[in-house]
Amino acid sequence: MIRLYDSATKEVVPLEQRDDGKVSIYVCGPTVYGPPHIGHGRSVLVYDILRRYLMWLGLDVTFVSNITDIDDKIINRANREERQWSDIATKCESVWWQAMDRLDALRPDKTPRATEYVDQMVQLIADLVDAGKAYETTDGVYLSVEEIDGYGLLAQQSLEDLRAGGGERELVGVEKRHTADFALWKVSKPDEPSWPSPWGDGRPGWHTECVVMSLDLIGEGFDLHTGGLDLMFPHHENERAQAVALGKPFARHWMHHGFVELEGEKMSKSLGNVHNLLDLTDEYDPRAYRLLVLQSHYRSPMELTDESLGHALAAMDRLDAFARRTAELDGEADPEVLEQFRQAMDNDLDTAKALDLLFRAVRDANTALDSDDRDAAAAATGAAHQIAGALGLRLGGEEADVPDEIMALARERGQARTDKDFALADSLRDQITAAGWSIEDSSDGPVLTPVK
Ligand SMILES: [Zn+2]
Repeated sequence: MIRLYDSATKEVVPLEQRDDGKVSIYVCGPTVYGPPHIGHGRSVLVYDILRRYLMWLGLDVTFVSNITDIDDKIINRANREERQWSDIATKCESVWWQAMDRLDALRPDKTPRATEYVDQMVQLIADLVDAGKAYETTDGVYLSVEEIDGYGLLAQQSLEDLRAGGGERELVGVEKRHTADFALWKVSKPDEPSWPSPWGDGRPGWHTECVVMSLDLIGEGFDLHTGGLDLMFPHHENERAQAVALGKPFARHWMHHGFVELEGEKMSKSLGNVHNLLDLTDEYDPRAYRLLVLQSHYRSPMELTDESLGHALAAMDRLDAFARRTAELDGEADPEVLEQFRQAMDNDLDTAKALDLLFRAVRDANTALDSDDRDAAAAATGAAHQIAGALGLRLGGEEADVPDEIMALARERGQARTDKDFALADSLRDQITAAGWSIEDSSDGPVLTPVK
């Protein structure tokens, strides 16, 4: 069974499943108020790789990732630009999916939006107030962390440490009882988006949506809750606190991934060194970014430099050349290599080791072909394709999923060329291009590629 580092116990432990053969995963998704940066790209890729690997193992994976479509950051931008907050959220969400599609990340099975869950959040907050775990103030409702068993589990800090860290002075002039108490409901200011509640019109705090959505969509005691290291505290601690307060079993296992460092600096908005993911994938083969993510252990910081990107692009070229060279080979994958791959991935997702195995299989296949040993070449090639597929690395020769109507145009164009009707062929090419695809003629027939 796959073993993963659990951020709650600080140990690498087997991912024990609630239901045999099934894995339920909840990933905290984006707050949609700006373009996704390369840190988001890493996050999505890390969990896409985990998900694909679990599927490759034959497990039935349910993958839920939310969209935070109401939040201070969205409202602030709307005010600054004098736009509707919902317009910003809708447009940013569509850009998000565009970027994630480029990375070839599987779409989540479910993508709940915060605004679709406000009624259920109001209900959860009311339950917390009734249970004496939350209290009303003039500006909203707060969770009382002193009422929560084991608060500080993920933060690895006691309530006293948190109080000291938060600074007593913060409490002066506010109605919070403990510095770590957090808002479940925020009473709105005039002209802010609001929903009705027993505590006045307002909106839910950020930490409530994921509790409600995960429990609603994958149920109590779901298998795995994930996100960036920056979400461990306070976001995940606070999600967990609400479930604990209501006696609901929450995530069985917690997983967090490291940051992306740009030439040695931590990727964060505050440092202003954000690299837009769309720019990155415009300029470079998005598969190279997946390769870089695979090269770093998910818990370690990942450094992005011109040099590391250059190496990844060259490595993709080698993989594509291998795929073209071995396209005709057909055979069973070498089971020994697959077993080594499983061992590497089961060991807290050792993706760097998995890549080593992939490149070794590629080398072995090439060497075997050089000496005309087609059986050995086919076994190594089969293993390489299995590993690449399980990691979500699309190798050259495998084409993108081309829509039927584009395929039909391409076929018509092929016929026009055969008939030497070049005017018609050109006009069909124009139609294909206008639909967002490029068409190149190769010795194996036309190759269709989506245009970014
Ligand atoms: Zn969350």
